[in-house]
Amino acid sequence: MLARPIVFGNWKMHGLREQALALAGALADRAPRLTGTLGIFPPFTVLHEVARRIQASALWLGGQDCHDRREGPFTGCISAWMLKDAGCRAVILGHSERRRGLGEDDAWVRRKAEAAIASGLLVVLCIGESEEEWQAGRRQEVLARQLAGSLPEGANAANLVVAYEPVWAIGTGRTPRPEEIAEIHLWLRGQLGRLLADGERVALLYGGSVKAANAGAIMAMEGVDGVLVGGASLDAEEFWRIYRAGGGA
Ligand code: PEP
Repeated sequence: MLARPIVFGNWKMHGLREQALALAGALADRAPRLTGTLGIFPPFTVLHEVARRIQASALWLGGQDCHDRREGPFTGCISAWMLKDAGCRAVILGHSERRRGLGEDDAWVRRKAEAAIASGLLVVLCIGESEEEWQAGRRQEVLARQLAGSLPEGANAANLVVAYEPVWAIGTGRTPRPEEIAEIHLWLRGQLGRLLADGERVALLYGGSVKAANAGAIMAMEGVDGVLVGGASLDAEEFWRIYRAGGGA
């Protein structure tokens, strides 16, 4: 069971070596020990060096994607075992920027997640509805479909975290109201309980325009175990304040 709050930072396609090491170092220096779980997900190219820089800290390191095979003729791809080898403990899968921008469907995400679990990584599985789906009142239908379609075989509360990330909230400065996030998380917990033996214990994160200013209210909600942060995770001070706002020390 991961210690709460769980605060993960998705750096996306940001981080040349110097900038990445400075950011990782600033966080590692604040985190020799942690009461919660704080993790960073830098680009592949800096993983090895960042792993070395943070090795004396309690920070988690993760990758932003992986292939569904261990190795082979897959030009440009990275396997879950390579991420492990680089020092990662987790991987983000099913992010909407990959589902929508790169055509990843539920079945593909599930295969990747199964590979990640086989390699020993924690899977951070992202799901979320688009603005049109939300406005059409189809949120639960979309989330149920994504969950059922991309949930990996062998998933349990020890190897899976689910991140609810409404697409319309990512990078937009807009978020659902905290009560609305709590309601969806409660509903998701029920869905997970039906799909997995220990599904009710799977950690649930909220993601989408989380900042230090709104993180406390979001993480105070019942059923919210933490947050997945994009833009605000590129500023060490702001990211640390988000973690602290969730009660982490
Ligand atoms: C994300 O892309 O996972 C994310 C939550 O982005 P942001 O915090 O920038 O909205």
